[in-house]
Amino acid sequence: MSVLVLGEHREGVLSSAMPHVVAAARQLSDDVDVLIVGFDVNLALGEAAKLDGVRHVLAADSVHLVHPLAEDVTQVILPLMDGYSHLLVANSAIGRSVLPRVAALLDVSPISDVIAIKDDATFVRPAYAGSVLETVRSRDDKKLLTVRPTAFEPVEILPRMNARFEVAATAAPSSQVQFVSEDIDENDGPTLSNARIVISGGRGVGSADNFLLLAALADKLDAAIGASRAAVDAGFVPNDLQVGQTGKIVAPELYIAVGISGAIQHQAGMQDSKVIVAINQDPEAPIFRIADYGLVGNLLEVLPELERKL
Ligand code: FAD
Repeated sequence: MSVLVLGEHREGVLSSAMPHVVAAARQLSDDVDVLIVGFDVNLALGEAAKLDGVRHVLAADSVHLVHPLAEDVTQVILPLMDGYSHLLVANSAIGRSVLPRVAALLDVSPISDVIAIKDDATFVRPAYAGSVLETVRSRDDKKLLTVRPTAFEPVEILPRMNARFEVAATAAPSSQVQFVSEDIDENDGPTLSNARIVISGGRGVGSADNFLLLAALADKLDAAIGASRAAVDAGFVPNDLQVGQTGKIVAPELYIAVGISGAIQHQAGMQDSKVIVAINQDPEAPIFRIADYGLVGNLLEVLPELERKL
């Protein structure tokens, strides 16, 4: 058995999910290789080679891959899969875009959002917004998984590179799709997926202006801002801040839910946080059932006071 991991990176910086995905891969095999697709990817190759337990780092480096599109990444992965029993990607926007394409072309079933590995063919994944855990066994000869990074303790990042480098063939650019543009969030603070502390606001926050109260607190705590879907739908914040079943899944050390009722779909995105704090004026709000600490009160009074005290 050997495992290929798709190494996500942006401008050479490896995604913080990668040590977690490699950890999942290591549960399957000692032969774990990481594939980096892009243009001028030396920095990412070096970072991947420092992940403990990685055997080879494969580089698919070509100018047409400067903005790697799922169609092109798929064409790089396909011929490589002859040599691997498993393909693992992060359960990220990129992973969820690439993996089903590879699966369709190999005619196997992809298994998404794996949170535990029982053996080389048996995997656990949540269903129904996390209220059910399914154990599934794959009979396909190649197993293709997206894994939830926060469910796996990361491998160590070694001080020195420890893997061998290899070149992977790149195919001709896809004629079906073309990169047009991308909008990058220039926010300097921690991002939702790698923040140690997340402070999320819901419909109860009441307005985009009131989200500034959360921003002030986030500044003091070096936290990322998140939101419920109701807050996103109301236009208080952009939708890339949404936490939950149809948003991001986070598991920070501290999650502060402000003016969020705690619907099951929201819980699906944050219930694995180490410590959960809820601030809500309704003592019956379901969020208090999963909170480690609860504060019943009006957030418009509580947040400024908390900020002053901090
Ligand atoms: P509400 O449920 O309206 O709660 C607002 C809370 O604020 C209340 O508890 C209230 O007591 C409190 N409040 C009001 N004013 C104050 C105040 N001044 N001080 C303190 N507290 C106050 N939701 C998500 O979040 N993420 C998802 O990914 C997601 N995906 C979904 C997918 C599907 C298929 C469906 C059907 C729904 C999904 N939802 C998702 C929506 C979810 O069901 C809830 O509607 C949503 O989470 C509610 O958001 P909320 O808690 O902010 O709003």
